[in-house]
Amino acid sequence: MKVITTIAEMRKLRSKQAGSVGLVPTMGYLHEGHLELVRRALLENLTVIVSIFVNPTQFAPEEDFTSYPHDPERDLALLEKERVDLVFMPGAQEMYPEGSSSWVEVEKVTERLEGDFRPGHFRGVATVVAKLFNITQPHRAYFGQKDAQQLAVIRKMVSDLNMNLEVVAVPTVREPDGLALSSRNTYLSPKERKAALVLWKSLSLAQELWQKGERSAAPIRQEMTSLIESEPLAKIDYVSIADPETLEELEEIDRPALVSMAVKIGKTRLIDNITLGE
Ligand code: AMP
Repeated sequence: MKVITTIAEMRKLRSKQAGSVGLVPTMGYLHEGHLELVRRALLENLTVIVSIFVNPTQFAPEEDFTSYPHDPERDLALLEKERVDLVFMPGAQEMYPEGSSSWVEVEKVTERLEGDFRPGHFRGVATVVAKLFNITQPHRAYFGQKDAQQLAVIRKMVSDLNMNLEVVAVPTVREPDGLALSSRNTYLSPKERKAALVLWKSLSLAQELWQKGERSAAPIRQEMTSLIESEPLAKIDYVSIADPETLEELEEIDRPALVSMAVKIGKTRLIDNITLGE
């Protein structure tokens, strides 16, 4: 496994790779969710590149950029064990040298849900992902269903800007009790960790109501909201039932529907989702 920190070296090594290349973009502090993306990429490509870069431009000033968890040595050991070929670990200066002033702006799909609560977030995400695509030239890029809106934004960017690669979505990996794995779970105290289960409980409730035949979105949203509000440590940013591509809210669930939410547990903001009727 080769660890690369400069764009020039990455390009040089990339140009020597024959056959299909899969890219797995991450912000590090890797867990089984990330490794699932890596394993899928290894199955489907001759060469796998994992990028580790905590992208400053996708964090708002009051967010957790400076405290985002990191453990590069552990990350590299995990990737080595999986037999990843190349790890791209640039510094912020390398990715955004002084004077850098170009951005990728995906409209509409970025304007709701996470976009509403994290203005500028998806501009940072789309820009860094476009840069990573340009630097590593992958045939396929792997993203987690866990960040469903991010996936929709990347798909739209790739389609609108005619980027020549396939976007592969990987199902969410969960703890045995249902909590979606996330690097931010490490922020949770034991009490908050228990409270955080309310996200999965409310998604399971949505699934159950839908299975019983409920097809109106409003009562499902309402029941989920009540359940989450019954947890004293939880504070809802949004509970949404929307079209998975456009993220427009649905009234009737007459096609696959993305049920998603953002909930603060204490100071930690968690997101999760499922798709009904896939
Ligand atoms: P991050 O390091 O949080 O930027 O995540 C890097 C990639 O891993 C993104 O495509 C995420 O959607 C994906 N990911 C994060 N958590 C999970 C999970 N629990 N299951 C599957 N994929 C995940």
